[in-house]
Amino acid sequence: MNTRKKVAFYTLGCKLNFSETSTIARSFTNEGFDRVDFSENADIYVINTCSVTENADKRFKTIVKQAQKANPNAFVAAVGCYAQLKPEELAAVNGVDLVLGATEKFKITDYLNDLSKNDFGEVHSCEIEDADFYVGSYSIGDRTRAFLKVQDGCDYKCTYCTIPLARGISRSDTLENVLKNAKEISEQGIKEIVLTGVNIGDYGKGEFGNKKHEHTFFELVTALDKVDGIERLRISSIEPNLLKNETIEFVANSKTFVPHFHIPLQSGSNELLKLMKRRYLRELYVDRVNKIREVMPDACIGVDVIVGFPGETDEHFLETYHFLNDLDISYLHVFTYSERDNTEAATFENVVPYNVRSKRSKMLRGLSVKKRRAFYENQLKSSHTVLFESENKEGYIHGFTENYIKVKTPWNPELVNTLHKIKLTEIDEDGLVRFDFLEEKVLQ
Ligand code: SF4
Repeated sequence: MNTRKKVAFYTLGCKLNFSETSTIARSFTNEGFDRVDFSENADIYVINTCSVTENADKRFKTIVKQAQKANPNAFVAAVGCYAQLKPEELAAVNGVDLVLGATEKFKITDYLNDLSKNDFGEVHSCEIEDADFYVGSYSIGDRTRAFLKVQDGCDYKCTYCTIPLARGISRSDTLENVLKNAKEISEQGIKEIVLTGVNIGDYGKGEFGNKKHEHTFFELVTALDKVDGIERLRISSIEPNLLKNETIEFVANSKTFVPHFHIPLQSGSNELLKLMKRRYLRELYVDRVNKIREVMPDACIGVDVIVGFPGETDEHFLETYHFLNDLDISYLHVFTYSERDNTEAATFENVVPYNVRSKRSKMLRGLSVKKRRAFYENQLKSSHTVLFESENKEGYIHGFTENYIKVKTPWNPELVNTLHKIKLTEIDEDGLVRFDFLEEKVLQ
């Protein structure tokens, strides 16, 4: 009889959380646990939480219930940003046995000698100042892309953000370790690596425990580009003030770094950017987009934007709307502002009513659809390389081109995790792009 314990994971939030869940999962495997799906019967359920998620508490409770439904006697543990910010709140949720803060989450297996259910969640939290060490992570096995963590925490003070409170100061992996992890990932047949972190443009700060920059983000990019065996590298989100010309120019000429940038804007109004304590004005943002377009006309440019920030008048919002409408970008990620405890913005006056926030969000989401469509249409008839994903979605397989165009074709298991040259032909009713293969299996 198999007596090995089973563990299941649920991840909320960002790519960084996904990469950390993978690392935590590997530590369980090393301790002799078998990993199963979250819907299956497991002995332990680990929930990696997020504080940015809308209705984070409700989501968390639903997931705990899901775990209890699968096995009412299972041990339930919570880690992640929400667990750091509100440990007692999570511990009080019915069915939760253990809550670990930022310094403890990677040591979770040390806390699991006794798996009997607790009447009340046990909390092992920390002051966020203590989270000053770095734990490298990458995700593998869950997707065709790997998320490679290169940096953690943030020293910025954006007035709406809880991430510095949940993840601590900015610190980075050593260049040597990043390169080692990248090599390991590529050796396992993963074809695309996405660089992740909280503020990856700040890479190099805290690399050896001190606050100096030992390496720059540009040095990281150029070193990764030289690692043999990596087919694709994607820079995920990078602050506009930290995205330098040298990086943009390098990406334009690189064979591995793909022409896709995701750059948080948050508002197109300088007044709002100042209230948010962002470190740039809208002019700098335009300059970054223009620079990318100058050297990579086909690049995909994604934008994060917040609506309903305190003090955002109709005029400010329209300023943002027109700013984005006029800018040559490819899609938006729209966030509806919601108050977070212990942030400066939560104390601001001129709160925007919820119905106005949601109306503005809808308008920008509509703009995003229009922008994406225009970007896709502009790319029709052009040739690209696509990396196919692993899921069968209602009889279709999806993939992304290097410039992040989502394509689909009838399911064929042989395509999973392979790269092919294609020519984009048409946009279908789901807004995804159909294509013709240009060659048989050009790259493997
Ligand atoms: S840059 Fe600003 S929004 Fe981003 S993590 Fe740092 S404080 Fe938060």
